[in-house]
Amino acid sequence: MLKADKAMTPPLAPTLLDADRTSDDAASFAALIACPIVLIDLAATPRAWLNPSACALFGNAYQSEGYAPLTSVVGEEASMALAAFGRDLPANGVGARISLDCHAAGGPLRLRFELARRGSDQIVATVRAEDGDVSSADELSRLYAALQALPVGVELFDADFNALFYNRKSDELFDYEASAVPNHDDWWILAFPEAAARREAFEQWRRTIAAARLDPSRSHLAEWTVTCRDGAVRTIQFFYRFLGDRYLLVLWDVTEQRRLEAELRATASTDSLTGLFNRRAFVERADAAVAASRSTQAPLSVLMIDIDHFKAINDRFGHAVGDQVLKTVAQRASEGLRREDVFARLGGEEFAVLLPGADRAQATMIASRLHAAISNAPMTVNGHTIGVTVSVGGAMLRGSDLDADVLVDRADGGLYAAKANGRNRIEFEEAA
Ligand code: GH3
Ligand code: MG
Ligand code: MG
Repeated sequence: MLKADKAMTPPLAPTLLDADRTSDDAASFAALIACPIVLIDLAATPRAWLNPSACALFGNAYQSEGYAPLTSVVGEEASMALAAFGRDLPANGVGARISLDCHAAGGPLRLRFELARRGSDQIVATVRAEDGDVSSADELSRLYAALQALPVGVELFDADFNALFYNRKSDELFDYEASAVPNHDDWWILAFPEAAARREAFEQWRRTIAAARLDPSRSHLAEWTVTCRDGAVRTIQFFYRFLGDRYLLVLWDVTEQRRLEAELRATASTDSLTGLFNRRAFVERADAAVAASRSTQAPLSVLMIDIDHFKAINDRFGHAVGDQVLKTVAQRASEGLRREDVFARLGGEEFAVLLPGADRAQATMIASRLHAAISNAPMTVNGHTIGVTVSVGGAMLRGSDLDADVLVDRADGGLYAAKANGRNRIEFEEAA
């Protein structure tokens, strides 16, 4: 995971204040927002894991997995104060601060620790210099404030994917209570509890990372549905980019956007009264079914259904009762259909069914079943008992049919014939 022999990030002050902006703006921006992160285990003798920036700041040797006594990192007094403050933090709090005089690599240094508590025995501290060069510190403060206030998550990692910076939004989403994420590798098991989804996302990430390394001039995107800090599952967009040897991640929550899109798609294809597909959705699916049938040579049939004398039902019982009759017809007919059938209300009291895989004989059988399901028993609506019958026309796709329209027109011809021949009947076109 972490590599002990990797190049150390320079100490805090030079990293933050003397970044070489002329040679490589992007890389120095990354250096500017890198910050020391200390993971503290609040055991009886508090211990700390330090990211590379923190090692450089406190003059500790970098250890990929190991913990050092907290006193050996920040000094005796600071260690006691920090541990006491950490124990008093409310669980999961983000952003509590304490300033302490520490023993840093370059001598005594006043540092500010921003703490988040995790579970009962861990805190994560982001460390910043309390003072320093005034103008640069101001610039840094403004940059920090801006990054913290962003409505998107910003994360920065070193070349080995050790955490260098997480902003507040990123903490809100991914500062898991179960475990900290000092290295990007630690994130996957928390975000993807399910192994297969995790494997797939990880492979996709590796490909995206390879592309991002090859082309650092643009951001590379992945979108995953992941488990967040609060246990909620959200759809997050991640933009990856390398800034020099730093790895920058910008992420935002698109859950609501995706939900609205799905809702809009559903609304656009649904008939609001019956919940069936609408004409638009039917036409789309009919075109697709004709294309599929051509390639697989499987048969395809269509039924057109129209309620008999529906106007009279409206006239006698009122429009609201008419609406209930439409819904009941939709329900009864649905029960006689197969999972693969596409049932739509085309408008008014006219319905259509697409029957993939059904030849003339099967489609005629389904038509009889539908007809019986709708007409065999009267409906009771608002206390009225109403006998409802339907006329049905049917047709099967022919090799000579240019498109779905031709097929639907022939089924419509069958419906017209059923009406002309006395209604309450099925007219399926003769075999060609
Ligand atoms: P036919 O047996 O020839 O099909 O006669 P019909 O009365 O069923 O056909 P017609 O086309 O004359 O009348 C259809 C009626 O359906 C007229 C229209 O007011 C009514 N209608 C259309 N849409 C709705 C609706 O959403 N709700 C209700 N209640 N009625 C509707
Ligand atoms: Mg009618
Ligand atoms: Mg009609």
